[in-house]
Amino acid sequence: MARNLKTSQIVTLIPGDGIGPEVISATRKIIDTFDMGINWDIIQEPFDEKKNKISKELENSLTKNRIALKGPLTTPIGKGFRSINVAIRKRFELFVNFRPIRNFEGFKSNYRDVDIVILRENTEDLYAGKEIEIAKGIMQSIKIITRSASDRVAKYAFRYASRNGRKKITVFHKANIMKLTDGLFLERARIVAKKYPEIEYEETIVDNGCMQLVMNPNKFDLILTENLYGDIVSDLCAGLVGGLGAAPGANLGKNYAVFEPAHGTAPDIAGKGIANPLATILSAIMMLKHIGKSSFAVALEQAVIQTLSKARNRTKDMGGALKTNEFADEIINNVKDELI
Ligand code: NAD
Repeated sequence: MARNLKTSQIVTLIPGDGIGPEVISATRKIIDTFDMGINWDIIQEPFDEKKNKISKELENSLTKNRIALKGPLTTPIGKGFRSINVAIRKRFELFVNFRPIRNFEGFKSNYRDVDIVILRENTEDLYAGKEIEIAKGIMQSIKIITRSASDRVAKYAFRYASRNGRKKITVFHKANIMKLTDGLFLERARIVAKKYPEIEYEETIVDNGCMQLVMNPNKFDLILTENLYGDIVSDLCAGLVGGLGAAPGANLGKNYAVFEPAHGTAPDIAGKGIANPLATILSAIMMLKHIGKSSFAVALEQAVIQTLSKARNRTKDMGGALKTNEFADEIINNVKDELI
């Protein structure tokens, strides 16, 4: 294996809430076993609730390290502080949310050979958090779509497709109703699309797109969409391949990158040691490739496939009995075989 594997890199590590510490610790155990030069800067308190903003600790760590591996964080529903996840994405201008969706052995699915990348604009839309009570009993949430944010995510999508052999981009939108906001997103995507004639370009109204995804997901290659639609569609797509257990993700910007599983804190199973760490491990594989530790990432990827090929290596969500740490140990054994 290449020697540069050992080049030292400090990564900000946010264990998160609920099952976060369990899946992060399993992933960390795998990486640390092979001493690949990753040092972790662990941030237990990513949010300052009193100031309602990212904690100083996280601010300093990510500003310095530029790369983070993150577990899920709780967002209170209908009250309390705004989403820490959204705050991190906005503060560090992580303008693309990247979610690859594909089948893995062991996950029950009605579909085969699903291979879709979802690229979601990550910094605006209804997630801008502009909500007001305009009169008693009347609430308003403001949807913000800008030309610059639409441009940069569209450019990223086409560049990514062109460099990674993706043949078609489908934009999911609702511009028939939201003519100005979604209309602008579409207009910018169309302009960028013209520069990439080799990539097929199509547009689908989001509700129709969801129906088509369920009828025939194999017709999709790369989906480009706004923040809210992307959030919903990426969980829908995770469901197509057997659930959130195998859905990794990355939040990417010009200067920073935060890798995290698509799933949430799963309070229903937290603390039981039964969470599936696969989505976090797959997110870490993306991170390792991003920081240039590609040969180890490929070995780890092979070890994951090898692990899942055995029916006994199933966590509870996959219909098995393996605990979070036992699953990680199986992967460690298989990485050892890959590295021989
Ligand atoms: P969730 O993803 O936490 O759980 C949905 C279902 O999937 C649950 O039944 C859960 O047990 C199961 N599940 C999720 N991950 C799993 C895993 N690794 N292994 C096995 N089963 C798994 O979604 P939710 O219940 O809607 O959200 C709970 C909390 O998570 C909320 O506070 C939400 O805001 C937060 N959340 C955070 C992020 C993030 O930090 N990026 C993402 C989504 C949700």
